[in-house]
Amino acid sequence: MAREFTLYWTSLEMYEACPQKYLWSRGWGTLDVGGGPGRPKPLPVRDSGHHRMMGTAIGKVVEDFYNLELWRDPKGLSDRLAERAEKEILLELARGYVDYRVAPSKAEMVKICRDGVVGFLRTVKHDRLLGPYSRAEVNLMGRVDASTPVGGRADIIVTREDTGTSILDGKNSQSKGKYTDPDQLRWYAMCFRLVHGRLPDRLGFVYFRYPADPDAGVSGVDWIPFTEGDADGLAARAVAGLTGMKAERFDPTPSPKTCKFCDFETVCDARQTQKANRASRRSKGGDDDFPTGFVDLGFDSGGTGGGGNGGDGAAGSSGTANTGGGGGGGGAQASGTGDGGSGGSGIVIISWS
Ligand code: SF4
Repeated sequence: MAREFTLYWTSLEMYEACPQKYLWSRGWGTLDVGGGPGRPKPLPVRDSGHHRMMGTAIGKVVEDFYNLELWRDPKGLSDRLAERAEKEILLELARGYVDYRVAPSKAEMVKICRDGVVGFLRTVKHDRLLGPYSRAEVNLMGRVDASTPVGGRADIIVTREDTGTSILDGKNSQSKGKYTDPDQLRWYAMCFRLVHGRLPDRLGFVYFRYPADPDAGVSGVDWIPFTEGDADGLAARAVAGLTGMKAERFDPTPSPKTCKFCDFETVCDARQTQKANRASRRSKGGDDDFPTGFVDLGFDSGGTGGGGNGGDGAAGSSGTANTGGGGGGGGAQASGTGDGGSGGSGIVIISWS
């Protein structure tokens, strides 16, 4: 019997952006899109994996920091974490493909990873991301309804008495907030609620390249607002998305915003047709990427709302639905916090990608 499909955030996000991109990237059922039944479509070009590799290397060190409780030995901890990060990125680089025409040099990537984990330690201390329950890579599995199993893997969950339960997602992005979607964290909150029957207390992105600055009193966490309604909305999106997948609705929905990051753009008929049509209209004197006629920029009017989709950092809930998430585990280990902040209880979840 085939294993039941569980819907994760990355799948829903990709499916909502373009169903065909999801099908080609992940495969589905017995559909053959060029790689064999149920398999992804072979990539037309080999993509440099350097961004993913740096995120993976830093994420592995952060995982060990929590799950191996490296924080219990604070002496020389930042140096030891930096050495681990260097080892991890060198392993990643040896295993994968990097196009050095677009990637930083090996030495630069090593430095980014070393600095990333040292900065993270500073954020842990300043923002108190350590407590009696502190775990990384926490699975949060549940069901929105009988036919919609969902899951999330939270980068970090921390529970402390003073801050409650926090779910955190780690990012190695160059630009803070530019390519992050707060609904990712709200999805974890929804999953947390399915597991624990309540939302977590805080959700936040940790940007490894933008650590806390204690002297300036600057936090290393971008906290994300969320509500029960966000969780309800994301649950509804999960049902709609999985229903569409099961019905094998995988039509392309080309748009510059989505296609620009799609590995299949060069071999996608829908996108190529769209580009040709736009080029044709431009050659006739128009440019449909630029609005014409009267444009109300809304300086005077009250505005009609509708927050941007996929916005930055701590933006409010977007039009459709957002999620809240359910909580981290219970935890024991009430001992000291090593290099980190003081003790406490509550739960925090962190994630990186
Ligand atoms: S190029 Fe655009 S339309 Fe085509 S599969 Fe990719 S995201 Fe979808």
